[in-house]
Amino acid sequence: MSEPIKTLCPYCGVGCGLEVIPGEPTGKTPWQVRGDRDHPSSLGMVCVKGATVAESIGKDRLLYPMWRETLEQPFRRISWDEAFEKICDRIQTVLQTQGADAICMYGSGQFVTEDYYTAQKLMKGCLGTNNFDANSRLCMSSAVSGYIQSLGADGPPCCYDDLETTDCAFIIGSNTAECHPIVFNRLRKYHKKTPHVRLIVVDPRTTPTAAAADLHLAIRPGTDIDLLNGIAYLLIQSGHDAPDFVAQHTTGFADFAEVVQHYPPSVVAERCGIPVEALETAARYWGESARVLSLWSMGMNQSSEGTAKVRSLINLHLLTGQIGKAGAGPFSLTGQPNAMGGREAGGLSHLLPGYRSVTNPQHRADVETAWQLPAGRIAPQPGRSVWEMIVGLENDEVGLFWIAATNPAVSLPDLERTKAALRRSPFTIYQEAYHPTETTEYAHLLLPATQWSEKSGTMTNSERCVTLASAFQVAPGEAREDWAIFAEVGRRLGFATQFPFQTSAEIHAEFVKLTRDRPCDMTGISHERLHTAGPLQWPLPLGETATSQAKRLYTDLKFHTPNGRARFSAYHSRGLAEPPDQQFPFILTTGRLYGHWHTQTRTGRTDKIRQMHPHPFIEIHPRDAEQLGIVEGDLVAVQSRRGSAQFPAKVTRAIAPGTVFVPMHWGALWADHAEANALTHPAACPDSKQPELKACSVMLVPVRIGEAIAFSPAIKTENTLPV
Ligand code: SF4
Repeated sequence: MSEPIKTLCPYCGVGCGLEVIPGEPTGKTPWQVRGDRDHPSSLGMVCVKGATVAESIGKDRLLYPMWRETLEQPFRRISWDEAFEKICDRIQTVLQTQGADAICMYGSGQFVTEDYYTAQKLMKGCLGTNNFDANSRLCMSSAVSGYIQSLGADGPPCCYDDLETTDCAFIIGSNTAECHPIVFNRLRKYHKKTPHVRLIVVDPRTTPTAAAADLHLAIRPGTDIDLLNGIAYLLIQSGHDAPDFVAQHTTGFADFAEVVQHYPPSVVAERCGIPVEALETAARYWGESARVLSLWSMGMNQSSEGTAKVRSLINLHLLTGQIGKAGAGPFSLTGQPNAMGGREAGGLSHLLPGYRSVTNPQHRADVETAWQLPAGRIAPQPGRSVWEMIVGLENDEVGLFWIAATNPAVSLPDLERTKAALRRSPFTIYQEAYHPTETTEYAHLLLPATQWSEKSGTMTNSERCVTLASAFQVAPGEAREDWAIFAEVGRRLGFATQFPFQTSAEIHAEFVKLTRDRPCDMTGISHERLHTAGPLQWPLPLGETATSQAKRLYTDLKFHTPNGRARFSAYHSRGLAEPPDQQFPFILTTGRLYGHWHTQTRTGRTDKIRQMHPHPFIEIHPRDAEQLGIVEGDLVAVQSRRGSAQFPAKVTRAIAPGTVFVPMHWGALWADHAEANALTHPAACPDSKQPELKACSVMLVPVRIGEAIAFSPAIKTENTLPV
């Protein structure tokens, strides 16, 4: 039997190592997938998504470039040459008539780092617009801004070994058991076998994660900062703070302490809707533990005060000196498989490669020099976030919209408004592996992209571990790597010097030079080294071996701020952007399920996962259900100020009274009228620009009279494109 191919799971940010071997000739797929025992992050474990990833890769693929003048016309096949001509003509026209700010690209955490890097060079360098944003904006940008503001640089300080060395895990805004299952497996096993370890889970829902907790704090949505300030109040009062650490390694304590004194237990418990005793127990668990690890995800980040929430959590670590040591620290769990690589490569509209900022003149100069571009080429202000791109389309300020490896016609908030804006676009390029997705409907030009198994590149997981995912099969049809498409456009626009790349290894080698002496220094990492040594964590400067130092950041307690001290923040809670009221009395919260990935582009094409989660639903508490006359399975119409949807009811005590939950996975291809984001709003954190996808106010109306919901059958499994 041939040696297994070692690669990485392309789903979530846990970043599990996979081994791929040829499948049975009569099997569903030509490849079998299993966990890689040698991968340091996952130790051979894999969840259902990773185990079934090979099943969908051959289905419903976009095989050729396709074009139509208007959205009403059918697509027709064109050559790559014609496609590149159309793109370059359009870019030149828009540059001449509207300027560089009218060109926008919206990319994805599904990109490998080499895709991200090449896109930055094309957009921010050659075209002179910072209008590159990625779907990490919806997922992680509050963690990025929180880390930068509190610790001086992005980058989770912790590693997965901390899951097995902590004394107290504090999970807030993360259904880790379902959304980062292998991280949870590691923590749960350790928690079970180590009696003194405490697991605290903060979540309005009784998720599988919360069900495993020693202490579940089912706070009201939007009261996270109240809770965190309330815990700080008790830690200070009980003498569990660390005054020496605070004095030597932080700034801003006085302002923080002043704010916190307004959060006594009785006030906090009332606001959060939890017993005072539960709050006190949480503070006691934190205060009495030698090592405290906090874990968070979208429940904190997807908020109109996301940065403030993240910083309020980091405050607790600074207050108690719980950072820079084994088993301790604030640890964001990334959603996408390579959201971290995107951050390293500058893949948001305010960033440049190597954890640089577009607003920093030295950073711009560093990158312009490296890219052999004239001084002043990179714009000094942040580009448009994805929602600002949507607003730009509404105002006819965008002349070219380029979407790659993501599905905004399901995943963006206020979906009817989003779709109307997409419909206005005069020229949309959609670069994607699959056909159709919900976004296909809004594209003029379709570009077939390779995906996992067909392209080589690196991805970085939540613990800063970089893995090389190598190609092991030929791409279907005329699909090309995302980086190769960006590079070809660059060359055709006259930037041959900037895009000499023949392989992704060459791109990676150029990219890591821009990380030299930066917080994410990975000059010691190359495709070749990853191939021979396996996954490596950064920072790993050139000439260094992988040492224990790289496992955790800030072990020397020197932070990336000008004075080397971490910064306290002082925030009062502002609550939800759209609180419930008489007309819309329920809080809708959205989330993900164990088996499905985002908008189902892959998992909707995987039989086992479709069987696991056959249709959407709405969770509603029995008390609310009774008041509305809703019983299990009834169809419920849900309406917000922006739109409506309908779901069968799942009556459960897992959700608190007054709150309802809907999974975000179902777009128009997979069910009729069941889009969670038809209801959500775009109000965003002012710092991170991350929308509050987690909460909006809605009303519920039972739908009766035999109106059975019409879920679409499986979408076509044959490729239906004309050839
Ligand atoms: Fe893939 Fe995440 Fe599951 Fe690991 S936990 S197998 S990375 S989806």
